[in-house]
Amino acid sequence: MATRPRRSAEPASARRRAGMARAAVITIMLASVATSAAAVVWRRKHPGQILWIDVGMYAVVYLSAAVLLLAASDDQPQRARGWRWLGLAMIASAGGNAWFSLVTRHSSTPDAPSLADVFDLARYPLTYLGIFALLRGSAVRPQAGQALDGLVAGLGAAALVVATVIGGSLAPGGGSVLQVLVNLAYPVGDLLLLLVLAAGGSVIGSTLSRSAALLAVGLGVNAVADLVYLVQQASDAYVEGGWLDQVWLVGTAAIGLAPGLAQGRPVAGGRHRTPRLAFAAPAVFALLSVLVIGLQQAGLVCWQAAVPADAAVLVAVVRAALGVRELQHAKAHELAELERLANTDELTGLPNRRAFREHLREALQAPPARPVSLLVLDVDRFKDVNDSLSHSAGDHLLVELGERISAVLGPDDVVGRLGGDEFAIVTFGDSSAGLRVAQAVHAALAEPFTLEDLPVHVDLSIGVASAMSATETAAALLRMADLAMYRAKRRHLGTCVHDLGHEPARDRLHLTEQLRAALRGQAGANGRVVVQVQPQVSLRTQGGVAAGELVGVEALARWQHPDEGLLLPGAFLPMAETAGLLGLLLDVVLDGALDACRGWWVTGRQLPVAVNVGASDALSPDFAVRIIDALQRHGLPPRALVLELTEDALIADPAAVRAVMTSLQARGVQFSIDDFGSGYSSLAYLRELPVQELKLDRTFVADLAADPSPGSSAAAIVRTTADLAHSLGLRVVAEGVEDDDTLRVLRMLDCDVVQGFHVAEPMPPERLRSWLDRWAARDRALPRQR
Ligand code: C2E
Ligand code: CA
Ligand code: CA
Repeated sequence: MATRPRRSAEPASARRRAGMARAAVITIMLASVATSAAAVVWRRKHPGQILWIDVGMYAVVYLSAAVLLLAASDDQPQRARGWRWLGLAMIASAGGNAWFSLVTRHSSTPDAPSLADVFDLARYPLTYLGIFALLRGSAVRPQAGQALDGLVAGLGAAALVVATVIGGSLAPGGGSVLQVLVNLAYPVGDLLLLLVLAAGGSVIGSTLSRSAALLAVGLGVNAVADLVYLVQQASDAYVEGGWLDQVWLVGTAAIGLAPGLAQGRPVAGGRHRTPRLAFAAPAVFALLSVLVIGLQQAGLVCWQAAVPADAAVLVAVVRAALGVRELQHAKAHELAELERLANTDELTGLPNRRAFREHLREALQAPPARPVSLLVLDVDRFKDVNDSLSHSAGDHLLVELGERISAVLGPDDVVGRLGGDEFAIVTFGDSSAGLRVAQAVHAALAEPFTLEDLPVHVDLSIGVASAMSATETAAALLRMADLAMYRAKRRHLGTCVHDLGHEPARDRLHLTEQLRAALRGQAGANGRVVVQVQPQVSLRTQGGVAAGELVGVEALARWQHPDEGLLLPGAFLPMAETAGLLGLLLDVVLDGALDACRGWWVTGRQLPVAVNVGASDALSPDFAVRIIDALQRHGLPPRALVLELTEDALIADPAAVRAVMTSLQARGVQFSIDDFGSGYSSLAYLRELPVQELKLDRTFVADLAADPSPGSSAAAIVRTTADLAHSLGLRVVAEGVEDDDTLRVLRMLDCDVVQGFHVAEPMPPERLRSWLDRWAARDRALPRQR
């Protein structure tokens, strides 16, 4: 969004007058440049100084440029300051030139440092200040490290120039140290300027406006002319009033014209990467400086060359130390940015799933023990709204719904959007308190919504689950409320409370006993718990793996029930958890997964299998032993197994979990963080945990599917997460990928591996081979990278 220019507040007549004054100054400046250029030809035959040109025309051009710069109006205060610094630099130049032509040139010791040098050298810091202020104004903050990079390169380049070009003629007759340093300051200053321009240009390349481009050209032309002048002077070839002088005038005019052109817009919050070249340049110059020092030691180049070379090496050392800090800083910044992006639902401004779960967790953990209720709310027939009206009507509905829900809540209640048309509320109190909130929400929906000028009645299905704090985890409570919500929806009840007592007690007990028996292998009337596997394929060609290639499978538990058919984990995991059967389940799944895995390994396909591990499993004292035993029983090396832990499991008892992970990892077992991003506190732990893989929470992938443009906030989250993971050496798996668009964006965002229905649904292990054949045949679904 463009900011409205402040100057539009000025009266139009004032603006017109300023415009006319500016045009007049430009005309005078350009006329002086032209006059001076015309005079060059004439002066060939009439050598010698012509004061009204050499001082007069010069001063007019420099001072006109200074006026234009000092009077430049810019909405951005940093940039306005930048133009003024450059204006002062122009005045310093004019002073330097005048003093040179009027005094230095006629003095008996023209080579000694004079007031002209003071003026001339002053323009360097003024110019740098100007450039840095302009860069800041473009929201690009040059870091200390980048400034030092420029310094290393500038000093190194100066050492080279002194050693090769200017060399011995710098201080004829062995001038004073001051004189040597002054003479040295010019090439250093100019090279530094060129480097700052190059680095600055590459940093703000994306926003390079016409204004910045013209400024860069002007400054660059002048710096090059300065260097040419130094060389000419060293060999006594400089002629006052020659073509070189015209180059300065043209460069100066360009600088003066720059602020009047179109400005680049600040890139608010924009990310920039420092180009690789910018990293390489200082390293190269530091090396060359070492070389110059060596040559000087050997007496092959003059000692003056070693001065900037020594300085370059010194600065390079400081820079290296700083680099480490800067990297740490950048990472911390990225973490903060990720957390900010990742906690708010962009549409409604409410806490998103991730932040909401953290609220829930806090409510469940905060002493004193008290009842906590969770409500999960889902819009009835939301799809109809989206389909029959429009997406924006759907969005509008969600926003207003969020507002209406918020309006009926008490000060301690928290509402969040879990994703799609699902909201959730956490409130303190038992299920009757939860029911009261549900009633208030239903009442708030009595008034119809106005969508595209139509009154539309909307209702919600609400599931309520309650627990005493500290007795349930956030995940368990969410699952219970979810089940209740589905029941409410199925039976058109409006609200449903999850109450274990609601299900016929005998049935529940019976089902639990059936599961226990099934897990113990007493098949028959109890059915069997089996695993299915879901393929994971690579998104990129790297490390000998081609894009589209199968790189692993995840084992998922299924209960083949005699009456109910194939049950998914959602139907039996909560029960298994309450009945303490998760340990048994892990053994059964591990067995099935490794058995299948063994089958592939003996045929030469060394495919790792991933197994889900619950928090209680990871904390059981014999966990590591059971894992290693199972691997040995199946004759598989530890690297055949990936253990997927959720963030919940990781933070249940961080120290204990980390210890067991470290010991298993030492043997070669790999670890993956499942549903990454759905929990809250994992980011801080990530660095210290021995994990190889992050599995992005499916909600991020779903958000991406809803808006698969690279600029969406979902894309920003995925990209930042991937960057972060890669900087820690982890691979990133995206699961729940259901279509091609999502897959393509995920590849653009640097994800490494995908898993999802778009690639394959979970399948019995024995079907993997025939799936692979079909997959290889239609590999085009994942176009190979060029
Ligand atoms: P999860 O670990 O996140 O597993 C991925 C789930 O996403 C699986 O659901 C899988 O079928 C589903 N899925 C895969 N691709 C897609 C897709 O493209 N779209 C959609 N909508 N879903 C997709 P499933 O098998 O129902 O498992 C649900 C959860 O149950 C798992 O989530 C995992 O947390 C848990 N679970 C599964 N097996 C086990 C197990 O053996 N032990 C334990 N402790 N938990 C398990
Ligand atoms: Ca998993
Ligand atoms: Ca997952």
